[in-house]
Amino acid sequence: MMPAEGETIGTRIDTVRQRIAEACDRSGRDVAGVRLMAVSKTRTPEEIADAAECGLTLFGENKVQEAASKIVRCPGTLEWHLVGHLQRNKVRRALPLFTCIQSVDSRRLIDELDKHATGTTPVLLQINIAGEAAKHGADPAEARELVDAVNATARLEVHGLMTIPPFAPEPEKSRPWFAQLRELRDRLTAETGTPLPELSMGMSNDYAVAIEEGATLVRVGTAIFGKRK
Ligand SMILES: *Cc1c(COP(=O)(O)O)cnc(C)c1O
Repeated sequence: MMPAEGETIGTRIDTVRQRIAEACDRSGRDVAGVRLMAVSKTRTPEEIADAAECGLTLFGENKVQEAASKIVRCPGTLEWHLVGHLQRNKVRRALPLFTCIQSVDSRRLIDELDKHATGTTPVLLQINIAGEAAKHGADPAEARELVDAVNATARLEVHGLMTIPPFAPEPEKSRPWFAQLRELRDRLTAETGTPLPELSMGMSNDYAVAIEEGATLVRVGTAIFGKRK
């Protein structure tokens, strides 16, 4: 789709916010319970500053190297989360950059993060909800063990779950996966007594559906910044 004439980061953010409010209305949720993250991979510090000017404060990056060189050139008031796969040899570099690591998906990564964390570090467990072979994220059947593993660390705190469902052009196709992540969360909370309030799910194409299924954080790139080159 060609961008509509006069479309800017500001007008796109207005549209996203409006659609978030509508999805909250439809599902009887308080709009304060849904955080909008701008996923800024491949975007310049100037584009990020534009989004920050429009009031966005939460940003997501998927590569440690890119984030390390970019974050220092962005407004210092922003909160950054890692939403991409984290290799263990990049843990030390990643920790000082990000408030939250959303892509924790193995016991070995949990151990490495705990070893190098210098303070309390919130994490989300990334779940490969559809069991796709080529995708990162833990198998839903391993999730219980990973919650226990984080609870056994000195410095990590698990705040919830994150998922990237199979790509589908039709947003309704994502709904069952979002519902499954929420149900998995409910089950894990019941079994472990760990509150897992955060559900990071929904991207440009399907964030409205994700909100209807309980998302507390939506990760939006294209719908804010335009098409990636
Ligand atoms: C790129 C990315 C997004 C945003 O994708 P869009 O379709 O551009 O909104 C969200 N989450 C993760 C993990 C990503 O890598």
